Parts: sequence; C-alpha cells; structure tokens
Amino acid sequence: MDQPSFTLSQSGTFVKEDFVINRQGIAAVGGTEVARVVGLRLQDLQLLEVLGKGASSLVRRAVHTPSQTELAVKVINVFDKDKRDQLLRELRTLYSSAFPWLVSFHDCLYDEGAMYIVLEYMDGGSLADVLIATQLTGSGAPSELVLGRIAAKTLAGLNYLHRERHQVHRDIKPGNILLNSRGEIKISDFGLSAELDSTKEMCATFIGTHAYMSPERLGGKPYSFASDIWSLGITLIECAIGQFPYTAYNGNNYFVLLSQILNDPPPSLPDAFSPEFRDLVLQCLTKDAEQRPSAEDLLKHPFIAMHDESLSPLDMAEWVKICTQMRKDAEIMPPS
Ligand code: AMP
Repeated sequence: MDQPSFTLSQSGTFVKEDFVINRQGIAAVGGTEVARVVGLRLQDLQLLEVLGKGASSLVRRAVHTPSQTELAVKVINVFDKDKRDQLLRELRTLYSSAFPWLVSFHDCLYDEGAMYIVLEYMDGGSLADVLIATQLTGSGAPSELVLGRIAAKTLAGLNYLHRERHQVHRDIKPGNILLNSRGEIKISDFGLSAELDSTKEMCATFIGTHAYMSPERLGGKPYSFASDIWSLGITLIECAIGQFPYTAYNGNNYFVLLSQILNDPPPSLPDAFSPEFRDLVLQCLTKDAEQRPSAEDLLKHPFIAMHDESLSPLDMAEWVKICTQMRKDAEIMPPS
C-alpha cells in the first residue's frame, strides 16, 4: 500500500514537505522561517456567504472578528490527494507572490480535513460576474478605456508571473480576474499554476478549463507562457463583445469547440473597435505559439500605452461601483 505523502498529527497538524499547517496558521519546517505568519486563528474567522465555486473549492466571504477585516476564505477538502497536491502548488505560489496585480494571501489554516486559505477580499467580484450582470441587466459591455486598463493590469501580472516566477498561470479567464472598490484589478487562482524549473520550459500536464485554452495546449503539444497570452485574448474579446467568441461554446459541444479552436482562424474583434484594440487581440490570438508576443512585448503595445494610467484619468473605482450596482440589480450578488 502507498504511504501517504503527508502526515496528520493527533493535534490536527497537517505536515507535507516544507509546510506545517494547523489551527494557528502556517509555518515552515526544516528551520526555514516563513515570512508572513499573521497570527490568524480559525475561531476568529466568521465564515459568511459563498462568493464562488472553483473546480475543487468553495470561496466564502469572511470577517476576521477581532479586527473587523473582510476577507475571502477558500475552503478545500484535503483528504483527496489531487486536491491536496493542488493546494500545495497554490500555497507555494501564493507565498512567493506579493505583487500588486495578484490577489494577496494572508494565511492558511487547517482544521478537521479542510484547508482554509485566507485571501484578500476583492469586493468587486470577478469579470465573469460583471459579464453575467451585464447580460442580465441588458447593460452595455465595458468601454475600451476600461478594457485597456484591464488588459494592462492583467499583462503586468502575467509579466511578473512569467518573468520573475517562471510560472504559467494556466487558467486565465474572466472568473480569475478580480476587481475591488478601490478600482484595482488582480489575477487570482494560482491553484493551477505550475512552477517551471529552469531546465524544463514546458508544462507536461493537462489541467484547467478548456474554453480559454490555447490551440497548442488543446492539441496536446507542449505549452508554456504564450498559452496564458492566448487565454487573455479570448477573455478580452468575450468582455468586449459580451459573449464567448466561439459559437460551439454556447451549444456546450466540447468536440466542436475543440475543432473550432484548433482548425478555424482565430476570432477577432469587429471593425467597430479601435485598430489598436483589434491589433492587440489579434496579437494575443496568434495561433502559432512561437510567433505570439510575450506579456513583456504586449505591455509596449500602442493599445496599452494609450491606456496608461497617467494618460487616461479613468476612474476604475467608479466603474467597479457601477458594476457592483449592476450585480445587485441582477441579483447575482449575495446580500452583505
Ligand atoms: P476560484 O476558486 O479562485 O476560481 O474562485 C471562484 C470564484 O470565487 C471566483 O470566480 C470569484 O467569483 C470568487 N472569488 C475567489 N477569490 C475571491 C476573492 N479573493 N475575493 C472575492 N471573490 C473571490
């Protein structure tokens, strides 16, 4: 029989590889100090409504009662081996990513078979929530100004992940781009990100949502950072036109969708959009991954330069406020 790859002591402490997690939070073993132990305790967290569901987790709003701080808590059952391994990957990434365009991580707690990952609460929800609310309320799609800002921040986050952390996110989609009432835009859900070591440039495994996947990935070929750029292109088109750009998606037909992504020309934005925006999307959706520009290249694209914060005084916070009202009107936002 296989030995379990983690230990769970009678006092309820979860130990795997470099991590020791219990009701008091997370600490490293082997003498390596983990930089951020903020002293969160499970009994101080009041878990509230469900904000969303991931592939293997539930995200709830929570309040840290001593400080009255709002938080998001991702709850994952760790008795399942795949989930446990996913969690460990996620923890590593979260711990090493303190960056303004990535959702910040506060702590991780373990109790009675469940892992509680305590995250910054993004009170504006995700771009997927905004898309649904837009459809339900019959409101227009976000303006190019807003989309330019979203593209710029997401590219900045991806550039950091790719260049500094050597990680492919692997699940860039509207549900993983989060907003807050300060007008900030951040990438979340690193559960599917895999660390690439310096000698191995490709991801060999296949995880994640198919609809936003690059042709090379869907085709079973090795894929790398460029795959995230494709997913961003699909995300931007969907936000701009208010619907997923491949028709097979709506029919929920996986095999037709697969064939469309692999064999059809890539989707593009209609003429009504600016040439700069259309070109950015065209670049992201270059079918040949070798020819697809990197996040660093795209940060220099004219569409991104046009929407640089110093040039366009767009009040993102105001836009998020409007979206929050829209989500309330569409009744897709749980009452606070
Ligand atoms: P995930 O499991 O990370 O894909 O999250 C599923 C959904 O939960 C997302 O699409 C968001 O709607 C919501 N969510 C995740 N993380 C947060 C957060 N930090 N703040 C607010 N909502 C979140």
